[in-house]
Amino acid sequence: MNRSDWTVLGVVADDFTGATDVASMLVRSGMRTMQVIGVPEGPPPAGADAVVVALKSRTTPVDDAVRESLAALRWLRGAGARQFYFKYCSTFDSTPRGNIGPVAEAMMSALGTDFTIACPAFPENGRTIFRGHLFVGDQLLSDSGMRNHPLTPMTDADLVRVLQPQCEGRVGLLRYDAVRAGVPATRARIAALRAEGVRIAVADAIDNDDLRVLAEACADLPLLTAGSGLALGLPALYAAQGWLRLDEHAASLETVGGAAAVLSGSCSTATNAQVAAWEAAGRPMRRIDPRALARGEPVVDEVLQWARAAVAQGAVLISATAAPEVLRAVQAELGAARAGELVEQALARLARGLVDAGVRRLVVAGGETSGAVVQGLGVRALRIGPAICPGVPWTRAEGRMLKLALKSGNFGAPTFFADALAHEGGR
Ligand code: ADP
Repeated sequence: MNRSDWTVLGVVADDFTGATDVASMLVRSGMRTMQVIGVPEGPPPAGADAVVVALKSRTTPVDDAVRESLAALRWLRGAGARQFYFKYCSTFDSTPRGNIGPVAEAMMSALGTDFTIACPAFPENGRTIFRGHLFVGDQLLSDSGMRNHPLTPMTDADLVRVLQPQCEGRVGLLRYDAVRAGVPATRARIAALRAEGVRIAVADAIDNDDLRVLAEACADLPLLTAGSGLALGLPALYAAQGWLRLDEHAASLETVGGAAAVLSGSCSTATNAQVAAWEAAGRPMRRIDPRALARGEPVVDEVLQWARAAVAQGAVLISATAAPEVLRAVQAELGAARAGELVEQALARLARGLVDAGVRRLVVAGGETSGAVVQGLGVRALRIGPAICPGVPWTRAEGRMLKLALKSGNFGAPTFFADALAHEGGR
């Protein structure tokens, strides 16, 4: 095989769907990739060029996020990784305190490096950065649906301004002018920014070529921090250095037959449209109301009873997804954290019940929701398969007859749920 036995790239991802997103990017470009859920106790999985540690650290208290990220980094160093990558959301989901800044700085100190970039751009999904401003399609981040996010509302599109208060070191801007001019100009600009005392530079990128330039210009940096887009250029760079041989079958996955279900706990604009499309197509679905959960009503048992019979006929959708005004009312009544937790716990219980009832293909919408579901199912590692749409691959739970598609809330066309099931040979 003449392959390196060592993991080349170690990724720490701040949520589960973000982890599958970056893993999908790597397999697509020929790197065999495993995703592990949390920091494993044992040694790294064999036969993976890249290992992605999926954390649930996006919205946890800063200290917890830093501690877990450093534990993941230590484990990945033990696995022999030569470069490290902190993966966050392409919409830069964070609160005023973090966790992007504190985690990035803690990883930099642990790796003994004084500089990295921050680049959430994912042009294939409409996330571009120009002059430090993040766009979602044609809108500034602050005008997009992200302004209504239940946990991390993003109300400022200027990423330097967003990141600086989260950091101790100076945040600067690696402008499009330099990136556009190619690798040497980008390297020169990075050297200048470093000399000015900038520790993290928000990097402009509006297409995949910009991301390739950035990846090459940053080849010597021990740590990259980015969305998934920056990963697309890495496999070829590693192959050029002789660290691995690209594998054109990196994304192949065994077929798993069996019943199918969709669990939706994201309230993003895209997911609202996906739930609406499923309903409009007359496909079977049930809604979960957090207020009924808070009242202690047996919502999960009732929905499960319905679903056990219904999945024999075809895929079902169970959804907590709510429009912004409904979400705001629920959050005002229950508190955002409590409402979110009630929904996550309910969907995790439903996932266990569905798998017990024979479901073998499960589509989950929402990053936090996916984290809760995967933990609820006791899944420890995922092998990454083919992409359903940019950023969302089918995955297979290691050692189990269970396939999972974990969708970040903002991703996918309105027909995503049906597309995912059709892609895997479902009904
Ligand atoms: P996304 O990927 O869109 O950010 P997440 O799953 O990460 O989705 O976050 C959505 C959060 O909103 C979760 O904590 C989920 O439990 C919560 N949530 C989902 N539906 C509702 C609802 N109807 N009311 C209140 N909170 C909800």
